[in-house]
Amino acid sequence: MTSRADERGYDPVALAAATEKVVVAGNRRKYASLARPLRFYGGTSSATEVGCNLRCKFCFSDRPVRKPGTTGKFYTPQQVFDALDASAKKHGHKLISASASEGTLGRQHLFELLELVDQSPYVFVLETNAITLGDDAEFAQQLARFKNLHVRVSIKGTSPVEYHRLTGAKASSYALPFRALEHLITAGVSCNACVTVSFSTNEGIARVRERLAAIRPGILTSLELEHITLFPKVAKRLREEGITPRAVRHRGRIVHLEHIPTIKGVIQ
Ligand code: SF4
Repeated sequence: MTSRADERGYDPVALAAATEKVVVAGNRRKYASLARPLRFYGGTSSATEVGCNLRCKFCFSDRPVRKPGTTGKFYTPQQVFDALDASAKKHGHKLISASASEGTLGRQHLFELLELVDQSPYVFVLETNAITLGDDAEFAQQLARFKNLHVRVSIKGTSPVEYHRLTGAKASSYALPFRALEHLITAGVSCNACVTVSFSTNEGIARVRERLAAIRPGILTSLELEHITLFPKVAKRLREEGITPRAVRHRGRIVHLEHIPTIKGVIQ
């Protein structure tokens, strides 16, 4: 990473290592719940992980991110897989995942879980902010042996300045998910990018599209532009931070805040 000693903000690579000490024990990782059906990707069964190395101010996941020590319980990969398998069978899902925190914490746990997934008919969607994958090229190489895996790289904002404002992390670490995409593509791992754009201008979105296209133009075909939902806790946190989104997901649609004064009232 190209961080300067005088740079403001926390180091999310260091926070990943510190968080692993709290949410990983041998091959077990902490989860708040083992399997719930979600509507994403046309339906997925998802476990709710505990522990993240970012502190996004728009994050809907409260206790799993902010209070990892007192949230959830430790589970083995087999326990997690069995619960996801049972839920997927019940709901007819082909995709399984873990969400609401950072998916790359606890590599041994993740690799053992992916070994179980590889013997199943499911595809596991690894949801990640990709900080750890960008920091260590070897990590993507280690993931390349799993065939039932897709990595969804989530980029927070459209510039280092916006990213720092939204996450509190060092602006230089904004480069890491882009580097992660390079590592994953080089290793031949199925992946796509998604960018949180609720706080972004059209110019910013165009800039991030250019940056992704420079890695590989094909990334743009599967690029997701993600808008936040203003859950009450999220709205409160953003209000306290003095951050106002430009557009949010509201009742299944993307709405620009100036068009909905009642929502604007929630945030300001
Ligand atoms: S990376 Fe995801 S889980 Fe972690 S704080 Fe940000 S939005 Fe929440």
